[in-house]
Parts: sequence; structure tokens; C-alpha cells
Amino acid sequence: MSSSYIEISRKALAKNIRFLKQIVGKDTVISSVIKGNAYGHGIGVFAPLVEACGVRHFSVFSIDEAATAYRFLSKDSHVMIMGHIDDCELEWAIARGVSFYIFDVGRLEASVAAAKKLGIPARIHLELETGLNRTGLEGQDLDRAVDVVKANRDCLQVDGVCTHYAGAESIANYWRIKRQIETFTEVCSTLERTGIRSSVKHTACSAAALRYPETAMDMVRFGIAQYGYWPSRETRMQYFLGCEEKERPIGRDPLRRVLTWKSRIMDVKRVGPGQYVGYGNLCLTSRAQKIATVPVGYFHGFARALSNLGYVLVHGRRAAVLGFVSMNIITIDITHLGDVERGDEVVILGKQGRNEITVSSFSEMSRNLNYEALVHIAPEIPRVAVD
Ligand SMILES: *Cc1c(COP(=O)(O)O)cnc(C)c1O
Repeated sequence: MSSSYIEISRKALAKNIRFLKQIVGKDTVISSVIKGNAYGHGIGVFAPLVEACGVRHFSVFSIDEAATAYRFLSKDSHVMIMGHIDDCELEWAIARGVSFYIFDVGRLEASVAAAKKLGIPARIHLELETGLNRTGLEGQDLDRAVDVVKANRDCLQVDGVCTHYAGAESIANYWRIKRQIETFTEVCSTLERTGIRSSVKHTACSAAALRYPETAMDMVRFGIAQYGYWPSRETRMQYFLGCEEKERPIGRDPLRRVLTWKSRIMDVKRVGPGQYVGYGNLCLTSRAQKIATVPVGYFHGFARALSNLGYVLVHGRRAAVLGFVSMNIITIDITHLGDVERGDEVVILGKQGRNEITVSSFSEMSRNLNYEALVHIAPEIPRVAVD
């Protein structure tokens, strides 16, 4: 048996998707972003649950993720690759109707060749450079791409025109985002004048859709929010301020965490005063203490930076991590907890009783982003769907 496991909550997910649908309205498609092993939730378990909520569009970063998603999704779902593909992998994508971003003319020409060879049109999204300065077509490259598209209408299907924002979760980037929105709109009009019309314009990630409603357009690529996390504390605050301004009651958090990471107590023992616990001398007992070991360590994604800082939940109460996080083990303080026995449930992330270990507490202490802490949870840990 595995030393820890992860529960994925159907109900929490369904609630998040309902909330996000309400945010974007019924005319905007939701694309579920499942890159990074579905932000650590596990593509194989997570993607079918999203499908069960009525979502039929999925975004991944690369061809290997697309292949995994493709295996677990039903036939009527669509997979879109936002990032990396080698030219030699284009045929795989085209043959399966998987769409992909075009941000350089080379890939576009290779797509034309592959599509001609297969006799199947390549489904593409033209990614526009609007200010993120990572990938995206602009200037002469964009003009050349337009020429290639116009000359190859029979083997290219423009599924979308898109871009990505440079940090919509922070007000510090306000003007940069606003400029990106303007640039996108201008370039889209130019494209339409030259005869490139796409039915689907998509630019927004979670933060953009929540904070700049005009970015939702025809489709939103929701990542972090569908898993039940706000993109930043600011986004969350802004949402609640918005409720206040509209004189709506500020209810409970509309987003519910989908993931709970659990393990069990491996061993329990007493340590006298003046003893060091674990490697080295990070933790010195000041009194007689009861400690327990939990078979989870930095190998599994429990950040080493949480040494002597983090908490887990046992019997619904917090228990502090003592000393260094090891590769496979943490030691916790259970002095205050009464009878804890081997095999008792430990919650590493998520709720137990009335308490919760949030990813943000987990990650702020280790100065990680939500995103980073989630994707560091080892893929080998079994994921199971629960209600
Ligand atoms: C990851 C990603 C998203 C989703 O971002 P969230 O902040 O998790 O909602 C959207 N678009 C692109 C291009 C991405 O890479």
C-alpha cells in the first residue's frame, strides 16, 4: 500500500465549475487547463470528473500531456496544446483532431505539410504576441503566417486566435494587462480585415476572467480556479469587494478545494527533554514530548522548506512538523493530542474536522506559489475520486 493518497472531490469540483460558468456566462466556452498533471491532481482521475460537469474542452502544454488526456477523455471532448510540439509529432495531433498553438511560421509550414500528407486539416490557434514576450506572432512573422493560412485554406482550420496575459492576478500589472487587451483587439481587427476570421477568440486564464471580464471573450482557459484556488490573495479580495459594491451578501468562499492529501501515522514514541529530533540540531525538545512519524517527505512533494515550520492535521487538530523534512518521513509533535496510534489518519493538505491546511499556508511558508506546491505532489501517489 502506498504511504499516502489523494482524494479528489466530485462535489467540490462541480461547485467550482458551476461558479465559473456563472462568472463567464452561457455564451463563453470553458476550457479546463490540465497541464502539469492537472496541477498535481492527476489527469487520469481529474479530467473525466470535469467531463462529468459538462466541460468538453481541455488545454494541455505538450504532446505527451495531450496523449494522456486523449486516453482518458471521451470522443466528443477536444484537446488543445498550448505549448510545445516537435515537428515530427504534428501528424499525431492532426490525425486525432487535437488542435495546437501556432507561434512561429516554421511550425505552420510543417503543419501544412503534415496535413497534406494525412489528407486531414490541421486545427490551429494563432497565438498573438501582445506583451508577455514569451511566444506569439507579431509584425512580419504574423504577416507571413497570414499568407500561409490564406494559401492553404483546404488543409488549415483556424480554430482560434489567442494570447496570454503577463500576470493578471496582480494589480501591479494593471496597465500592462490593459495594453495587452488593446493590442489583442487591434490585431484581431486587422486579421479580420485581411480575411482571417476565427469564431473563437480566447485570452483569459482564471485571474483575467475574474478581474477583467472583457477578456473572457468566446472561451476562457481556467486552470487554478477550477481546482478551487484563487490565483492570488488579491484576486480573492477583489472578488469579495465586488460583492460588497454590488451589495450582494458576502457568503462563503465560492471556490472549494478539490484535493485532499492524506497519510497515516507510521510510528509513535516519547522523547525526553533536551533531545534533538531528526537529523542534526534543528529541533531540540524543551520538555518531554510525544512525537509521531508520517511516511511523507520531500520525495513526495512535502517541501523541505517546511522543516520545523509546517503543520499537518491529526484528530482534527494541528500538529507541528519537528526538525527537518526528510526524503520520505516527517516527524510531528503530538504531545497535545492524547491517544494517537499507528494507522491514525493524517491530513497533509485539506480539511480534517473543522481545521484545514491550505495550499497557501503550505506554500507561503515555503515561499512557493500555490501552483508550484501543487505540481510538486509526486505523480506516483494514488489519486481517487470521492464524493
Ligand atoms: C496555465 C495556463 C492557463 C491557466 O492559468 P490559471 O492561472 O491556472 O487559470 C491559461 N492559459 C495558458 C496559456 C496557460 O499556460
